[in-house]
Amino acid sequence: MENFSFYAPTYFAFGKESENEVGKLVKRFGGTKVLIHYGGGSVVRSGLLDRVKKSLDEQEISYMELGGVKPNPRSGLVYEGIDICKDNAIDFILAVGGGSVIDSAKAIAAGAIYDGDFWDYYTGKRVNQALPIGTVLTIAAAGSEGSPDSVITNEDGMYKRGSSGEGLRPKFSVLNPELTQTLPAYQSAAGITDIMAHLMERYMTNTTDVEVTDRMIEGLLKTMIHEGPKVIENPNNYQARANIMWAGMMAHNNSCGVGRSQDWASHDIEHELSATYDVTHGAGLAVVMPQVMRYNMNHDLMRFVQLAHRVWNVEIDFTDLETTANKGIDAFQQYLASIGMPTTFAQIGAKEEDIPAMAHSACYGNKRTGTIGGFVSLNEEDVINIYKMCL
Ligand code: NAP
Ligand code: FE
Repeated sequence: MENFSFYAPTYFAFGKESENEVGKLVKRFGGTKVLIHYGGGSVVRSGLLDRVKKSLDEQEISYMELGGVKPNPRSGLVYEGIDICKDNAIDFILAVGGGSVIDSAKAIAAGAIYDGDFWDYYTGKRVNQALPIGTVLTIAAAGSEGSPDSVITNEDGMYKRGSSGEGLRPKFSVLNPELTQTLPAYQSAAGITDIMAHLMERYMTNTTDVEVTDRMIEGLLKTMIHEGPKVIENPNNYQARANIMWAGMMAHNNSCGVGRSQDWASHDIEHELSATYDVTHGAGLAVVMPQVMRYNMNHDLMRFVQLAHRVWNVEIDFTDLETTANKGIDAFQQYLASIGMPTTFAQIGAKEEDIPAMAHSACYGNKRTGTIGGFVSLNEEDVINIYKMCL
């Protein structure tokens, strides 16, 4: 295990009706003038936005609103939000929605106290300071409710890129699993896939002797395998929703990623699909991830054998480790298909002729220097090969 520091001071209010605590939580973390940020309307239709406003009213906290965040959130609305904050002395951002809303809120929070262009933070500058952020989560997926990360698409060039820094960790997050019961099955499945991707990206490590984090990741993956199909079958299964919601937070607040190298090649390769076709992040990952694993398998065959055996219950054939490892990846792909996720380019409307441009953007776009991936260093040709395997 490598040395690390870990500081994750997000306060979580978890469970039924926890959104009614929002006003008190904003007050506790110093908010007096709030920007409520939300998406395309699901929180309006469900009545959640009204409940959140009522909770703020009860604490006599003033607020403004900015809705309209799209999945794969864009820079345009971020600039709008930053202007609102600067013009109105906003001192707290409250994100009500999914990862897209939270990530957009984080970008606004960083940009609101920065004199330069917020996009600097998405080309490598770390976010040490931002306005305080709180979240009310409506989908278990991105893990942004407990992470120091944000992903935004810059409409100038359509680059989908991430930013990171302790300033972006939410001060509090409200997690009521009931709020996720209105999700369409496809979004639930995409969320499940993203959670599993956050675990797999950390599992793909070159660090040895990481038993504690390996076992945490394996346990969370097994939880997802067990609970995922339950919510696809019955969207109102509260206990399954609850288990998935907490697993999603644990998968990405980095408690199981500390002290080990991580990969993130699948995310970088997927982000080009989201940016090019506006495909749902989890659906893009379902297509890409098994192929990245196959491509990288021989870099550390025993890691894939361990994954196949411990997570997918594949019996180890010591005379043919490659087949054992492949059986694990097959099981993963079959699982993703079983919850309704796509597994090929055609199913997400991606086209072979766009492969060179996407591979180039993944490796060189927005100031990248030629390779991606922390497990295996992948160059443009490797990325082209992986996209072709997705056809
Ligand atoms: P999302 O993009 O926030 O939401 C997806 C869709 O689900 C939206 O259309 C949204 O509609 C709808 N929705 C959300 N909650 C709902 C509910 N309770 N009932 C009905 N519909 C609901 O989904 P997400 O997967 O959480 O976020 C995806 C984004 O996060 C991607 O851009 C991805 O790249 C990014 N990401 C970030 C991190 C990170 O660490 N920051 C990590 C991984 C991925 P409305 O707009 O109407 O609400
Ligand atoms: Fe993700």
